[in-house]
Amino acid sequence: MSAYYSQNSEMMQDGNYLDVAGKVDSGYCLTMKPAHHIFSRRCWIFDLDGTLTVPVHDFPAIREALGMEVTDTDILRFLAELPPHEAEQRHARLREIEYGLADRTSAAPGAVRLLDRLLQRNVRVGILTRNTREIALYTLGQIGLEAYFAPEHVLGRNEAVPKPHPEGIEKLLSEWGGMPDETVMVGDYLFDLQVGRAAGTATIHVDANGAFRWPELADLAVTTLDELADVLSSD
Ligand SMILES: [Mg+2]
Repeated sequence: MSAYYSQNSEMMQDGNYLDVAGKVDSGYCLTMKPAHHIFSRRCWIFDLDGTLTVPVHDFPAIREALGMEVTDTDILRFLAELPPHEAEQRHARLREIEYGLADRTSAAPGAVRLLDRLLQRNVRVGILTRNTREIALYTLGQIGLEAYFAPEHVLGRNEAVPKPHPEGIEKLLSEWGGMPDETVMVGDYLFDLQVGRAAGTATIHVDANGAFRWPELADLAVTTLDELADVLSSD
């Protein structure tokens, strides 16, 4: 198991839940116990692209296609700062790129198993994406995960202030009657972990490369969703 828990995690305070197995560069390598309270949380919010899907986004190429500076990493902020007529053109180009990517991707390894396990536990599941809801629903159809998510629980960049702003999480929790300390935010990028921190949820970083670049923002990090499904299965 290549998962680790952040050294800064609240869970590190609670030795009852954790078995320290050794230390690795990106944090402490720990054995996950089914009883760990992350896994008993009843609200799970997922990023979509690169988390529930196999990563296909070439963000540097997308930024170049939109005329952005190499050093600028926030596509939505860049578009928001353009004059309206320019923004509209480039939003159209971005939608075209995103639909093309949706056609090329597939469900991430372990996504179906994990969602099955969560739904068996009556967990609430939603998606918070910086993509549009329309493209997100299209993507879910393409990858065969549409049955797991109610469309109203898929929030895109037009339904809430984009991540890392916590409004999307707050909206879903308000709908579900859930609290941040009952909630997990799962994602593959910095914004996903930051939004979890901003909203006060637990955070799980999924990084197929195992680089885990933001250990201070992740309560748990895994290389595939299969690892999470395994833990839930053994519970
Ligand atoms: Mg992502």
